[in-house]
Amino acid sequence: MTEANKIAIVTGGGRGIGRAIVERLRRDGATVVTCGRGERPADLPADIIWVTGDVSRPEDASRIAATAAQHGDITVLVNNAGIQIEKTVPETTDAEWDQLVGVNCRGVFNMCRAVIPLMAEGGGDIVNLGSISGMVADPSMAIYNASKGFVHSLTRSIAVDHGPKVRCNAVSPGWIMTEMAESGFALASDPEKARADSIARHPARRFGKPEDVANVVAWLVSTESAFVTGHCITIDGGLTAASPLQPGLF
Ligand code: NDP
Repeated sequence: MTEANKIAIVTGGGRGIGRAIVERLRRDGATVVTCGRGERPADLPADIIWVTGDVSRPEDASRIAATAAQHGDITVLVNNAGIQIEKTVPETTDAEWDQLVGVNCRGVFNMCRAVIPLMAEGGGDIVNLGSISGMVADPSMAIYNASKGFVHSLTRSIAVDHGPKVRCNAVSPGWIMTEMAESGFALASDPEKARADSIARHPARRFGKPEDVANVVAWLVSTESAFVTGHCITIDGGLTAASPLQPGLF
């Protein structure tokens, strides 16, 4: 769906949802630059450009953007990199606040600030990874939930401040099976029971796959979504559409 010759940055594309987005945009013909804090993953396709960098550091964000700009005007930025800390407010240390807010909030800000001035005159598309946790509170994830609320709000501001040159949207995934989601279920007293209960609450009767998110991101960076900006699209198999009444009892 992405037009060929696009220059796309996807942060945190080494694994999980980011990897699926990288592979989808590549398949659609884009030149894709991605990053992570470690070394280049061995299984990353050879034509994907890798930058070792931490989006929470402004200088790394600028370096990631400059690397992409060497290949042409940047047309797509997907702010996917994110971390999760499973704590309530009193449990959260200053170091954990700095780390989580540094990646999930400042990282998105750093990348947008570095990339918007480098976006193609003809226009660019930004997609931020929010979460249903930015709309409804997952237990024991206070700062993570709040960080995703920030992402949803920043998305609207960028759309308003930089339209029509830049479109900015967010996606709000629900339970997408990656390392991050596994660590969420590990919090439950009975993870298997929590999984079964959660699936029963999904009208789609399954958890999401990284590709479910990548498909929506591909649409959001295509001309087919040209009139969509400042919006947050939920991708949760219907989980947050359901009332809290226990399925099966009614
Ligand atoms: P994973 O933990 O599987 O992957 C996260 C990726 O981000 C990794 O490649 C990681 O690489 C990278 N990353 C983390 N911190 C940084 C950093 N500071 N700089 C650069 N890269 C970084 O997570 P998911 O794929 O599950 O999640 C991706 C996004 O989707 C996140 O923003 C998450 O909050 C969001 N999301 C996920 C949901 C889910 O159910 N999985 C639900 C809702 C939202 P490395 O560690 O090597 O740096």
